[in-house]
Amino acid sequence: MTALAPPATIAFLGLGMMGRPMARRLVEAGFKLRVFDVSQKAVSDFVGAHPSALATASAKAAAEGADALITMLPDGKIVRQAVLEGRDAAVEGLQAGALVLDMSSSNPVDTQKLVRDLAGRGVALLDAPVSGGVRRAVDGSLSIMVGGAAADLERVRPIFGAMGKTITLCGPAGAGHALKALNNYLSAAGLVAMCEALVVGEAFGLDPGVMVDVFNSSTGKSNATEVKGRQFVVPRNFAAGFTTALMVKDLRTAGDLATHLKLQVPNLAQAVAYWTAADGKLGKGADHTEIFRYAEMLAEES
Ligand code: NAD
Repeated sequence: MTALAPPATIAFLGLGMMGRPMARRLVEAGFKLRVFDVSQKAVSDFVGAHPSALATASAKAAAEGADALITMLPDGKIVRQAVLEGRDAAVEGLQAGALVLDMSSSNPVDTQKLVRDLAGRGVALLDAPVSGGVRRAVDGSLSIMVGGAAADLERVRPIFGAMGKTITLCGPAGAGHALKALNNYLSAAGLVAMCEALVVGEAFGLDPGVMVDVFNSSTGKSNATEVKGRQFVVPRNFAAGFTTALMVKDLRTAGDLATHLKLQVPNLAQAVAYWTAADGKLGKGADHTEIFRYAEMLAEES
């Protein structure tokens, strides 16, 4: 099977914080894009900035004539609607042999079902969630975690190569989505640990910037200390571009996976509860780095 190199046609659904820069990387690599988002502004802003991309009015219209269809949507339920069950779903427009690439952070068990249901319609799906945030979406250095058949991955490798640097086949359908949710559990846990350490250190009189610098040259170093401390938390701009609500969704996905497998995982359960409560307190649209503000609120309550 030939690899889908530029100028293959890609349908792209979801031009949000991540979808925008990822779709831009594909345009710049020479792919032909057919884009759709329920936000008309998101579509018109994108085609305004990238006139070679074609605006379409539905998932079905985007899918027509595409070699592959990428979803970068909030969650797996929305992906299922957009691809299979909703009005003007992509499956109605997809040509035989086209591949669906779900790059959203979806629920792995739901993904396994979606893969089975789409197979019944003659369509294959790879789960291919990403890690690295907006910054690495912009520079095309995302980590892409793939679940599905190796031959399908080889076919779309040039597409992933335009958006990511590390492309890992994690296992069969759902493996990418499972690994992504577990990765975000580690990420969330590391961020809370840094924030709580900063709250205690500041109360003792330590300088938070100095604390982060010392963590980064010591054993406390993590993704949180390296790319969120000095950048978003210490200056309190909270502008990482990933919402608390999406982090809660990822943690619930990891927690639900443990429950599905009948496993007791107390720290993960605690993380789900902590972030769910924080989401309620921080308000709609809060950036996940605002978890620092939540840690401060809790500390002051005691
Ligand atoms: P976002 O909310 O900024 O963007 C989602 C986009 O999807 C919006 O533009 C919305 O209008 C659109 N949309 C919603 N329903 C739709 C539908 N039915 N059809 C077409 N478009 C629809 O979210 P995001 O931050 O870009 O995240 C997207 C996915 O990537 C999520 O699953 C998230 O968990 C994951 N993710 C985000 C980050 C990050 O740093 N933001 C990093 C890694 C993974």
